[in-house]
Amino acid sequence: MSARRILLVEDELPIRQMIAFNLTRAGFEVDEAGDAASARLQIADARPDLLLVDWMLPDSSGLELTRTLRREPVNRDIPIIMLTARADERDRVLGLDSGADDYITKPFSPRELLSRVNAVLRRSAPSVDEPLIAGKLRLDPVSHRVHAGDREVGLGPTEYRLLKFLMENPDRVYSRTQVLDKVWGQNVYVEERTVDVHVRRLRQALEDCGADPYVQTVRGAGYRFSVC
Ligand code: CA
Repeated sequence: MSARRILLVEDELPIRQMIAFNLTRAGFEVDEAGDAASARLQIADARPDLLLVDWMLPDSSGLELTRTLRREPVNRDIPIIMLTARADERDRVLGLDSGADDYITKPFSPRELLSRVNAVLRRSAPSVDEPLIAGKLRLDPVSHRVHAGDREVGLGPTEYRLLKFLMENPDRVYSRTQVLDKVWGQNVYVEERTVDVHVRRLRQALEDCGADPYVQTVRGAGYRFSVC
C-alpha cells in the first residue's frame, strides 16, 4: 500500500513545518497549503486521504472550508481534522458541527497529532467486511448473503457482484460499458446485452423479496442503484 497523503492547510509557516516534519517522519506523504484557495486547488488535483485544517486561515476559515467540502459529493468523505488555538467547548462543537471528524487544540505534541490522525484514518477506512445496507437491503460480504428485510434474496454469483458494485456506488449512473468493466473486468469480452440480462435477473430476485425498484434504468444512460 502506498503512503497515505495528508494535505496540511496552515498559514503559519513554523507550525506547518513542524507538523509536516512529524507526519513525514511517521511515513505519511504531506502536501502543504497556506490558504483555503490553494487547498481547494490541491484537492481538485489529487484527493488527499486526510485533511488537517487550521481554523484561522488568511482567506477563509477552516470551518468554511470544511463546510464547503462537506457539500461536495466527491469530497464529502475526506476525513478532516481541525487545528485550532481555541479551546472553548463552544468552538469545539462548532468545529465538529461543520463536519470535521476531530479537533486538535494548539499547542499539541507530535504524539497527540499522530494518534488523532491515525484514529481518524482508521475510522474512515471502509472495512471490506462491513455489511452494505441500503433501504431494506443488507449485503454481507463475508457470507455473500443478501437479505431484504428478513427474507434472503437468492442471487447467482454475477448478480451478487453486480448488486455489490451498485450498492457500493449508490445514486450514480453507470453505462453498460462501465458496469461491464467494473463487474466483469476490463479484459473480459462480454456483450453489453449481457449486462441487461443480469440486471433483469437481479431485479426479479429483488422483486420476489419485495425489494424493488432499487435498480433503476436511466433511459439512454444506463443503470443506477437508489433507494429513493
Ligand atoms: Ca492560522
